Amino acid sequence: MPKGGLHLKNIILADKAGFCFGVRRAVDEAINIKNKYNKDIYTLGPLIHNNDVVKFLEKNNIFPIKLDEINKLSKNDVIIIRSHGISPKVYDMLKATVDTVIDATCPYVSNIQQKAKKYFDLGYGIVIVGDFNHPEVEGINGWCDNKAFISKDGLDLKNLPTKVCVLSQTTEKQENFEKVLNIVVKSCKEIVAFNTICSATEVRQKAAEEISKKVDAMIVIGGKNSSNTTKLYEICKANCENTIHVENSGEIPETILNSKNIVNIGVTAGASTPEWIIKEAFIKMNEENNQGENNQEVNEQLAFMQQNDKQIVVGETLKGEVISVTEKGIFLNVGYKVDAILPENEVLKDADVKLEDMFKVGDEVTVKIISRRNEDGYIVLSTVEIGREKGYSELKEAFEKGESINVIVKECVKGGLISSYKGVRVFIPASHVELFHIDDLNSYIGKEIGIKIIELVEGRKNSRIVGSRKELLRVDKDKLDEVVWERLNKGDIVEGEVKRLADFGAFVGIDGIDGLLHVSEISWARVNKPSDVLKVSDKIKVLILDIDKENKKISLSMKALSEDPWTNVDIKYPVESIVLCKVLRFASFGAFVELEPGVDALVHVSEISHKRIDKPSEGLTIGQLVKAKILDVNKETKKIGLSIKEANEL
Ligand code: SF4
Repeated sequence: MPKGGLHLKNIILADKAGFCFGVRRAVDEAINIKNKYNKDIYTLGPLIHNNDVVKFLEKNNIFPIKLDEINKLSKNDVIIIRSHGISPKVYDMLKATVDTVIDATCPYVSNIQQKAKKYFDLGYGIVIVGDFNHPEVEGINGWCDNKAFISKDGLDLKNLPTKVCVLSQTTEKQENFEKVLNIVVKSCKEIVAFNTICSATEVRQKAAEEISKKVDAMIVIGGKNSSNTTKLYEICKANCENTIHVENSGEIPETILNSKNIVNIGVTAGASTPEWIIKEAFIKMNEENNQGENNQEVNEQLAFMQQNDKQIVVGETLKGEVISVTEKGIFLNVGYKVDAILPENEVLKDADVKLEDMFKVGDEVTVKIISRRNEDGYIVLSTVEIGREKGYSELKEAFEKGESINVIVKECVKGGLISSYKGVRVFIPASHVELFHIDDLNSYIGKEIGIKIIELVEGRKNSRIVGSRKELLRVDKDKLDEVVWERLNKGDIVEGEVKRLADFGAFVGIDGIDGLLHVSEISWARVNKPSDVLKVSDKIKVLILDIDKENKKISLSMKALSEDPWTNVDIKYPVESIVLCKVLRFASFGAFVELEPGVDALVHVSEISHKRIDKPSEGLTIGQLVKAKILDVNKETKKIGLSIKEANEL
């Protein structure tokens, strides 16, 4: 039986009731600062619009101070700017008064301030939809030289310039923003509008609106001077006549709990209402209701609120809702009591992509916790780590399947290249960068290259991933080579490039495959070593003398492409004629002379001079040009006999 003859109630808590991210951030900041400095701390105006919280803060030596009282502060005092933010002029005043000014302006509000400044500087008139005297609006107005047009419904807007930028107080009602916009559209030519109503406000308003349509009574908990709580009250009141605005559990009227006509009671709370005040209200209603054990729904909802206090576990992957996009990063609600930040350097993105182009308020993002708290008290998140995990498993799969992947080369180190695949480090040894040796690898930095993973070792200390571009190139090359081998035939004349020189010949590249040009096949003339006539990179024409497709061997000839100088030697050099020739080398029996490249002849030692000489060097020198008489020509044996002394007899 319900206590005091009260009637059983269903108590339904609205989604997202209570502290918003900006308010929680400001309160946490104040407490952190208090703990850090361990002395009285001041806030410019009440930190939040909730008397119970303000009293709680005062008990903890955090005191509100008015702007016209700041001259009472001394240089070493600490003052906190609350989530509403302030104008640049007021900020300068604070800085001139105390050394330590802590800015706890909600990032949402900072965003509006920046927009006001930007468009004002661009020559736009700034229209703010909101309450003229609200501190947040006063602060924003300060960012456009206090020249904003401020209106609740647009009806009082006069003398607007032709181009305007429309912004909204974060806690304004959506319908008011639309009303103002409708009026502005009619009187201005160029309009830039940003619906800057905070999603925290919006979601609270929507949830409260929905519940208020279904219940017999609504209890709206929050400070009487809280604008967002007042708006919640107005929204609920429009749907539910029995809507009551209370500051705490003590103000919940017995009439609601006593009424037999009121069965379902909805509860919502403003963004400046802490969880403990909501809990107290629940507990009170639950006790009155005498259903502590039976009202399962209430217990579940309280459990949900408790759950916000659960342990934050590093490494946990979870989904979060974007509540603000700033230059520093993204703020998200990840279902914990504390809000979270996804810093820009932890966002998996291309360098030139802006955060505001990737995220918008309300987006759901999968993130990983990488720190339980940063120095500002936020949980720190990463999508880079999620990408890295995904990247690692893709690398592993590529390794197991022998598939190729594309990596970005990040730096050049001793021994090779460091590359990255979705944030995972992959080492490429220098010998695996190309099919041939490369001296300087710096030109690869910043490039995207395909590789094959050739080693993947998992382990805490010695994990490593090694990639090879060469392996991939080799596969491609093998395919290309197959085509070339198929195409080439003995007797073909092809273009080639000298790749490497050895004493016994030159290696010539033909469409990617190498053939050997033996030293004896370079020229009809005598060639001591290939480097005497060829150099690396020379482009030459060669004839395929032989091709062994099975063993992948090709022998080439350059000299075969010119006529054998012995072909008509008997016609070119008739017996008895006198010829000018060059002394090439000596033998014990005579001197070899060159008639033309590839055609050598012998002057026997007895045919060198009328004088008696024992060896050719007594009558000749190497390189000397001499006249000689042709004694005999044998085309078959490629022998020509000459006489110098007979030529001189003429
Ligand atoms: S209501 Fe929105 S803008 Fe205002 S403090 Fe909370 S999060 Fe920030």
